[in-house]
Amino acid sequence: MFFSTLLIPILKNYPSEAKIKSHKLMLRTGMIKQSSAGIYSWLPLGFKVMKKIENIVREEQNKIFAQEILMPTIQSSEIWKESGRYEDYGEEMLRITDRQKREILYGPTNEELITDIFRNSIKSYKSLPQLLYHIQWKFRDELRPRFGIMRCREFYMKDAYSFDLNDELGEHSYNKFYLSYLKTFKRLDLKAIPMAADTGPIGGNLSHEFIILAETGESKIYTDKNIFEVDHSDCTLEKNSLTNLRKKFENYYAVTDEKFNKAVFDKLVTKENQLETKGIEVGHIFYFGDKYSKPMNASVDYNGKKVFVKMGSYGVGVSRLVGAIIEAKFDEKNENMNWPINVAPYECAILPLVSKNDKTNLEKSINIFKKLKDRNIDAIIDDTDENFSSKMKKFNLIGVPYQILLGKKSDDEMFEFKKIGEESIKLKIDDIINVINSKKEN
Ligand code: ATP
Ligand code: MG
Repeated sequence: MFFSTLLIPILKNYPSEAKIKSHKLMLRTGMIKQSSAGIYSWLPLGFKVMKKIENIVREEQNKIFAQEILMPTIQSSEIWKESGRYEDYGEEMLRITDRQKREILYGPTNEELITDIFRNSIKSYKSLPQLLYHIQWKFRDELRPRFGIMRCREFYMKDAYSFDLNDELGEHSYNKFYLSYLKTFKRLDLKAIPMAADTGPIGGNLSHEFIILAETGESKIYTDKNIFEVDHSDCTLEKNSLTNLRKKFENYYAVTDEKFNKAVFDKLVTKENQLETKGIEVGHIFYFGDKYSKPMNASVDYNGKKVFVKMGSYGVGVSRLVGAIIEAKFDEKNENMNWPINVAPYECAILPLVSKNDKTNLEKSINIFKKLKDRNIDAIIDDTDENFSSKMKKFNLIGVPYQILLGKKSDDEMFEFKKIGEESIKLKIDDIINVINSKKEN
C-alpha cells in the first residue's frame, strides 16, 4: 500500500479548536473529520484503528459465548413507552417523526429492543442463559459534546445483554462480562480499573465502570496502586473462580470523585500506595434484575410458573477507545502517538528516500513490503518525494510502532530498523519480521 494513494489528509499544524491530545492528533493525522457538532466521519486511518479495536472486543465477547446480533439504529417509541423510559430519557434522546407521523428515535441504548426480541423468541427457562451483543452506532444528544470522539453525539458502542432465571445466575452472567472486559482492555494494553458505580438512568443495583488511567480523563479517581497487580489470567468462567476474581479487586480501595472520602482513603491505603489520578470511562456494566422484563412482560415458563427474567447490560465505548488509547499511551518525551501493535493503523512503515531519477529504494521497498505481507505484517510504503526527516516525523506523529528506513546508501541485506521513540539498528529482513511478529498476539 502506497501512502500517496491513500486518503490521509495530514495537517501541518494542530487545529486550534481541539483541546486535548487525542482530539488534536486525530484531526491532525486525518483519522476523523467533523461533519457537525459532535458528529464525525471516520477516515481510513481512524477507521482502521477502530475496526481493530472492534475485533478484539468481539473476540472477547465470543469467548464467553455471547452471541452476536445486529439491531437497528432506529427504534420505535412504543417499546420505550412500555418500559417507561420514553419520558425519563429526556433531551438526550433524538426523537424523530416519520411520514406516517409515527414517533421513532435514534437508539441511545438497546435494553427495550433486546427485551422485545427476547420475549418474542424465548419461552422456556431451558433456553437460559441468553447472552447477546451487538456493535452498533448510538446517538445521544449530549448537552456539551466535546473532546472529539471522546464525548460526541453519534458514537460506536458494543452493548451486550444477559437474561437469566434468577439473581444468582444473573450475577454469574454479570461476572462473565466483568472478566471479558478485563481481558479486552488488557489486549488493548490498557490499565483498567473496575470500579463500583452508580447506575444512573439505566437503573438497577449492581454496576461497575471500567476506568483507564489518563491525565486528561474526565473522572478523578483515587485508588490503591496494588489494584494493578490483581491477575485475571487464571480465572475461568466457572462460578467460584469469577466470584473470587471480583472479591480480589474489591479488596482494594478505588473510587471516583463522588464517593471519595479522604479519611477512609488514608485509613485503608498507605501513603506510598495511594494513587490520585484521572481516568476515562471505557466500559460500564449493570445488573438490574427485572427492571425491564417486568413492565415489558418478558418471562419464561419454569415448571408451569411464569418467571420474569433477570437482566444485565454491558457497554464498551468502541469509538471512545480510539481516543482513550491515544490519551493513555501518548509518549510525552518524543511527542508521538504510541499505538499498541494490536490496534496500530499500520504495524510497520517503510520509508524510502526517493528521487525522480533513482527508483532503487522504491523497488527495494516494494520487495520488503511483499515479504512483510507474506508474514501477515500490515505495512505501508511512504512513496512520496518528501525528504527523509519529514517522512519520519509524519510516521512518528501517526504513531506507527516500527519503521524501516531506506536512506541514501541503503544496503540490500541489512536494513535500518527502528521502534518508535528509539534509535535504529541494522537488521536482516527476516530478523525484522521476527521482532515485529514476536510483539504481536498469535
Ligand atoms: P458517560 O458517563 O461517559 O457519560 P454513560 O455512563 O452515559 O457515559 P453508558 O451508557 O455506560 O455511558 O455507555 C457505555 C459506554 O459508551 C461508556 O462507558 C462510554 O465508553 C461510551 N460512551 C457513552 N457516552 C458516550 C459519548 N457521548 N461519546 C462517546 N462514547 C460514549
Ligand atoms: Mg456509564
